[in-house]
Amino acid sequence: MRKDAFPSLQDSARYIKGVGPKKALLLEELGIRTALDLLNHFPFRIEDFSKVVQMDEVHPGDEVTVQGRVVSASFVGSQRGRALRVTVTDGRGLLHLVWYNMPYMHRDFTPGRPVVASGRAEWRRGGLEMAHPLWRVPGETATRGPIIPVYHSAAGLTSQTIQKIVKSALEIYGPLLRPSVPPAVLEKHGFSLEGQAYRDIHDPPSAVAWQTARRTMAFREMLYLQIALLTMRRDAEAAPGPGAFRDFERPQAFVSGLPFVLTSAQERAISDVRADLCGVKAMNRLLQGDVGSGKTVVAMYSLLAGVGNGFQGAFLAPTEILAEQHVKTFEELGRDLARVGFLSGASGNAERRQVLEGVRQGDIQVLIGTHAMLGPEVEWRRLGVVVTDEQHRFGVKQRLVLPGSAPVAPHVLVMSATPIPRSLALTLYGDLDISVMDVMPPGRIPAKTVVLDGRGRQVAYRKVCEEVAAGRQAYVVCPLIREGATGRKAAELVREELEQGALRGLRLGLIHGDLPRREVEQTMAAFLRQDIQVLVSTTVVEVGIDAPNAAVMVVEDADSFGLATLHQLRGRVGRGKDQSFCFLIASAGTESGRERLKAMETLSDGFSVAEADLEQRGPGQFFGTQQHGLPEIKVSDLQLTLDVVSRAREEARSVLAALEAPDPDAALVNLVSAVKTRFGDLFSYGRSR
Ligand code: ADP
Ligand code: MG
Repeated sequence: MRKDAFPSLQDSARYIKGVGPKKALLLEELGIRTALDLLNHFPFRIEDFSKVVQMDEVHPGDEVTVQGRVVSASFVGSQRGRALRVTVTDGRGLLHLVWYNMPYMHRDFTPGRPVVASGRAEWRRGGLEMAHPLWRVPGETATRGPIIPVYHSAAGLTSQTIQKIVKSALEIYGPLLRPSVPPAVLEKHGFSLEGQAYRDIHDPPSAVAWQTARRTMAFREMLYLQIALLTMRRDAEAAPGPGAFRDFERPQAFVSGLPFVLTSAQERAISDVRADLCGVKAMNRLLQGDVGSGKTVVAMYSLLAGVGNGFQGAFLAPTEILAEQHVKTFEELGRDLARVGFLSGASGNAERRQVLEGVRQGDIQVLIGTHAMLGPEVEWRRLGVVVTDEQHRFGVKQRLVLPGSAPVAPHVLVMSATPIPRSLALTLYGDLDISVMDVMPPGRIPAKTVVLDGRGRQVAYRKVCEEVAAGRQAYVVCPLIREGATGRKAAELVREELEQGALRGLRLGLIHGDLPRREVEQTMAAFLRQDIQVLVSTTVVEVGIDAPNAAVMVVEDADSFGLATLHQLRGRVGRGKDQSFCFLIASAGTESGRERLKAMETLSDGFSVAEADLEQRGPGQFFGTQQHGLPEIKVSDLQLTLDVVSRAREEARSVLAALEAPDPDAALVNLVSAVKTRFGDLFSYGRSR
């Protein structure tokens, strides 16, 4: 919509002052399409320009603000492309401001112009440099105070540009924002009102006001999520289930036939599941168990119980490779206890038709596959049990998505290898009952974990060479696909660098999220066949792939990941009988990052890692997009605290209770409809589809 029409929060961001078609594309990379998206793109930190440090007192590694005048601006060549290097002085020292691949910026720096810049100083090219600093001309500012908000940015779109765009969006669209949380609720907990919070978070008059605004936004997001989850739970409980299972002979036969004894944790999980299946209501259970704890056995138990009681089962995996692995496991461990079918997006037409027919006729008792099996063309004869593996890869939206044609709500078991601290599990999975598997099958040797700094990199790669020479394989994980402004290691570059350097002569493969799925799966398959010896990738390898021959995991720029993610990555090795190794390489100059990583050297079980992560970085990260699959929620940037989480949970309960009253408060009805707008289809659970 154009400016001459009435503005609406759904207007394309493209028509906001200062945007235009080119910036609109860059904004889209950040997930921003509409005016509302822009207002909900919150800064993740602030810079306080009120504390200026003199240049001769700046040390490498310091995060500081300096003020001076431009001496000169020139371009220098670098590995990372052409860099603009602007030299500034305050009369006491010199400092260089550096921007990579942003050539047009040189126009801003005519000699003599005063600047204030804020960022991290590093020793490079024989001087103190500040790469991609925040900067402004003293006196020229888009904000009320000396506090500048810092936004997640994209290549070619700086935080400062975003700040200006948001500022003009706030003027036009701010007044259209309709508050959804009753003011009394916000006041009760000492939060700001919503309109105020939007202003203070983008244009903070003080650091304190900014913090309060963030807490308010975090609370609101949590409240939405909690209301959605509790509603889902209520609806799930009201839906008719498949009816109590009575016959457990088949799953019992499966357990007795296993070539190993169940761990005590598996026994407990199985008895939880069994109790659920004997009930009248449908099971809605989360099975949390560390990587390698043996969740598949519990999945198979549930599916076979369904088969034994005359129902079909669906076993949903996030990737084709994982689904294929489950088929193999069924063949090996499930023997002839169920007739199994396989369906994925890559299934051929004839095969597909045959599988669909088998499902319709009931010849296929357990269908294993990817999300392809959620389509409406899959007509179940009598679906009774659904198991979702690696739930954290799907998110809330798919958590309870039911295969298209189930006549009743089936029993649902979701499994996740992401350990969630106990204090948070209820909040994230308030709609589910939870079983935790915290005991490993015997004989596992935890990976030996070593934290290195950049200078120690060769230690890691020497080990990779040694292990590969001994016939084993390795993973190298990097935070990004391509080199961006942050200087973080990028998978593509690392692969090239290793191929010509430390790992010359080895067979390397590369996977990341931008490659076509087909190619990723082919490369993974080649790795499993051991045609590829070293797999360089982004965190896409995190998903539960089982390559028992992999012995070394190297994580570049490990300090840019949370401990929970590192633990997942580490779980990719140590699946065989021999000692395995995990090298966490911290980027140069991040002492605190290194300290943080040290915890990984001693902690080996996922729950202690998760608790440490919670302590270090707060609970926000556990609500990252991957966890709940709701990109609208950005609480991971909102410095969520445990007290905000529990306040939201408490309020959500009382809101839902108050709604049961005969004549509920209009403000509450309004709140719930805001939640529905946000979460939409979550609310269709248990209803007809
Ligand atoms: P995850 O929980 O990560 O999905 P899996 O179910 O893939 O773990 O199990 C990992 C490996 O451990 C598999 O090879 C499986 O056969 C084996 N396993 C499972 N349970 C036991 C047990 N009780 N004793 C020994 N090995 C087991
Ligand atoms: Mg698994």
